[in-house]
Parts: sequence; C-alpha cells; structure tokens
Amino acid sequence: MSNTTWVNWGRNQRCTPASIVTPGSVDELVAAVRAAGQAGQRVKPVGAGHSFTSIAVTDGVHLQLDRLAGLVAADPSSGLVTLRAGTRLRDIPALLAPHGLAMENLGDIDAQSISGAISTGTHGTGDRFGGIATQVRVLEIVLADGSVVTCSADERPELFAAARVGLGALGVLSSVTLQCVPAFLLHAIEKPVPFEEMLGSFHERVAAHDHVEFYWFPHTDWTLYKEDTRHPADAEKRPLGKVRSYVDDELLSNTAFGALCRLGHHVPGVIRTVNKISARALGAREYRDASHTVLASPRRVRFCEMEYAVPRDTITDVLREVRQLIDRRGWRISFPIEIRVAAADDIWLSTASERKSAYIAVHKYFRTPHEEYFRAVEDIVGAVAGRPHWGKLHYLSAADLASRYPRFDDFVRLRDELDPEGRFANDHLDRVLGSRVTS
Ligand SMILES: Cc1cc2nc3c(=O)[nH]c(=O)nc-3n(C[C@H](O)[C@H](O)[C@H](O)COP(=O)(O)OP(=O)(O)OC[C@H]3O[C@@H](n4cnc5c(N)ncnc54)[C@H](O)[C@@H]3O)c2cc1C
Repeated sequence: MSNTTWVNWGRNQRCTPASIVTPGSVDELVAAVRAAGQAGQRVKPVGAGHSFTSIAVTDGVHLQLDRLAGLVAADPSSGLVTLRAGTRLRDIPALLAPHGLAMENLGDIDAQSISGAISTGTHGTGDRFGGIATQVRVLEIVLADGSVVTCSADERPELFAAARVGLGALGVLSSVTLQCVPAFLLHAIEKPVPFEEMLGSFHERVAAHDHVEFYWFPHTDWTLYKEDTRHPADAEKRPLGKVRSYVDDELLSNTAFGALCRLGHHVPGVIRTVNKISARALGAREYRDASHTVLASPRRVRFCEMEYAVPRDTITDVLREVRQLIDRRGWRISFPIEIRVAAADDIWLSTASERKSAYIAVHKYFRTPHEEYFRAVEDIVGAVAGRPHWGKLHYLSAADLASRYPRFDDFVRLRDELDPEGRFANDHLDRVLGSRVTS
C-alpha cells in the first residue's frame, strides 16, 4: 500500500491506492501500465480529482499525470494543438497565446486536466457548441497491453467515437489534439431576470446568443441570467474593474456565499431569506474580456453536484417540476440550480450524443446530505430519458443507462475487446458499464 490517501475536490470520494505512479513521459506511462499488468494490478489514471463520483478511485495503481503536461505542438494555420494528457485547462490559455489561439468553449471552471475533462464529457454552454470532447481531433492512447495507438475520424474511427468520452475505461490518454480557434473576446451581459420571464424566453435567448445560461435561486422568483457574444481578439476589451471583480467573484460568489452556506447548513430556516438576498446581491453587469476569463471562474465553496442532460425542449418543464418538488417537500436548498445547453454530437457516450441537449445541475453544500434531493430530481429527469454527467453524482447503473445511449452496447463491446482483463476497471465503472464478459 502507498499509505497515501487520495481525496477528490468534493471531499466525498477517497482511496488508498496500492501505489502512486507519476510518469513524466509516454515511455514511463507504458512501463507503468505493463508493470501493473505483470503484477495483476488495476490501473486508474487521474486528473485533477474534480469528479464527484468514484470514477477516478482505485485500490490498484493510481496514475497521476501532472508531470505529463504541456504543449507538444501548435499550428496557428490549422488551429490544431497537441497537449500532453495531464495538462490543466487553466494552463492552456498561456500555452496558446503565443500562437493566437484559444479553446472554442469551456465549462464553469478551468482546474480540470484536459483528459479528465473530455473523459467525463465536461461541457460549457452554447446552442452551436458541443462539450469539450467535440474539440478533439486526435487521441494518443496507451492500451491495456501497453501498446500505444492513435485514433481520429480517419484512423480507428470506432475507437475515436468511443474514447473522446471514454470514462477512463478504454486506456490511458497520453496526448490530446484539439481543434482550436483564433483567440476571441466574449462580451458578457449578466442580469437578474424573473423566473417566469426566463422560462418563457429561454429558447429564444439560446438561439439569439452564442453562450446562454442561467441560475435559478430556489425559494425565489428570480434567476441570474448570463449571455456571452463572441468578438474578434482585436475588439476593444472592457474588463471588469479589479474591485468589482473581487466583490462579485470572490466576496459574493465565494467568501460570502461560503459563509451563508455554512450558516444554512446549521440553520436551514434561514435559507429562504438568504437566497432572496443572494439573488439581489449579484446584480447586473456587462464586460468584455478574453474568452477563458469570461467563461471560467473560481469555485471555492465546496459542494456535491448532480447534473443531467435532457432533450432540449423539455428543460423548462423539467425545471418547473423540480421547483414544485422543492416546494412540496419543504426542503431548504441554498445552491442555485444551473441551466445550460449543448449541440448534438456523434460521440458514443457524450451526454449530448445524437441529441440537442439542455443541462440541469443541482448542488448541495458538501457537508449537507444530498441523496434524497438528488434521487427525487433524478426521477423527474428519468421521465424524459435524462443522461447523467459522467463526473457527477447519480444513482443509475448499466441496465438503466443502456437504453439512454444509442451506442452504449458498442462502447461496452469495444471496452471488452480492448481491456478483457479489466485493467482499467473499478467498482464505479463496473456499475455504470457492467462488468466485462469473462470466458
Ligand atoms: C467545482 C467544479 C466545477 C465543475 N464545473 C463543470 C462544468 O462547468 N461543466 C462540466 O461538464 N463539468 C464540470 N465539473 C465536472 C468536471 O469537469 C469533471 O468531473 C472532470 O472529469 C474533472 O476533470 P479531472 O481532471 O478532475 O478528472 P478526474 O476527476 O481526475 O478524472 C475523471 C475521469 O477521467 C479519467 N482520466 C483522467 N485522466 C485520464 C487519462 N489521461 N486517460 C484516460 N482517462 C483519464 C479518470 O480515470 C476518471 O475516469 C465540475 C467539477 C467541479 C468540482
């Protein structure tokens, strides 16, 4: 045993791996996978530990890939950029800046590794934009037998369709080639919008603007709406002032919000009032800045989260039902519920696979029990064949998931072919994919 306990960001998953290996090259990565095979041990690559499920947990060899990070190549004319697998999203803007490039879209934070982000289907928002995995053009993968293969739309297309959102089940990604775009600015407008007005205009707003999302504050009639419009990099920047940015993003969204969550945890009766204050405190603001600065922001208040993708046109009814549920049960929910969208894509286990999607994300402060709330919301999204985010909490297993993904069985078949001994398995993958066929 390594005697080192690994803990995820949400503090709800931990493990003590038999050993921790930190390869600094593809050769070292291959050697680690081969050595584990000879010793009969399981292997689990891990990124930044920002998944809420036990997907990155192992009692075998934990492959921590922070040393396998950085830029391999960037071609400004094609926009193709190859990164080592452990590269953190937050480091990518500085790597791309000298080449005048940027990632096409991002999620809410940038702490994740590129491999962890794509492997679980991490996404941002935007009618015309898919999750981060849709930006991938080539993957280099170390398979269970220690061989190193590449895949793309032309080379091993089945593996490419599966491994872009591969759940860490098919092999260890050693590098990722992304289709980047010329660097751009985003003009952000954030403002409170009444709940009913938001629901009535949501689809129109999504169609009219590049990136649209909103948060509904439970127990209030208010949402906080955000729309971002893309502008060329040479457009005028109008960044938030340092003080405004500190007050909104650090003080209100993190420090004060954290204190209110702690208060709500101990005295749930105050949550209704606190949410009304929060919905008003985060007022309107407008700014224009580099894309990654506008899309991702710090999250310092720890929480546990469940997020489901639903068919786009069901989202407003789903949110209404969740609102009725919260009222009916008399729960006190301090975290706002987040709504985003994504374009349909062709990745087998992407939550937007072959389906134009909207996302509903529910959160609970990490010290507060979440299961009753999450399970009840899961029942609501289940009625519209919702698909859980692979890195966030849910209670489904392979039997439930198979009918929600057109290519689920193909993914499992490929997993069984590539990893017949379950080198990359763990209990979580056995639950969501089913354990492998042993003959
Ligand atoms: C505060 C917070 C905010 C978040 N915001 C968003 C958001 O806006 N949008 C969204 O969609 N999600 C979001 N998430 C979820 C998060 O993006 C995913 O859980 C993502 O997987 C985390 O990346 P990671 O590097 O931490 O991966 P980990 O959690 O460390 O690993 C996730 C999976 O990736 C696999 N993996 C890692 N590296 C490799 C590799 N080299 N090869 C093969 N498999 C690998 C692991 O084995 C595991 O199965 C958020 C999470 C948190 C905690």
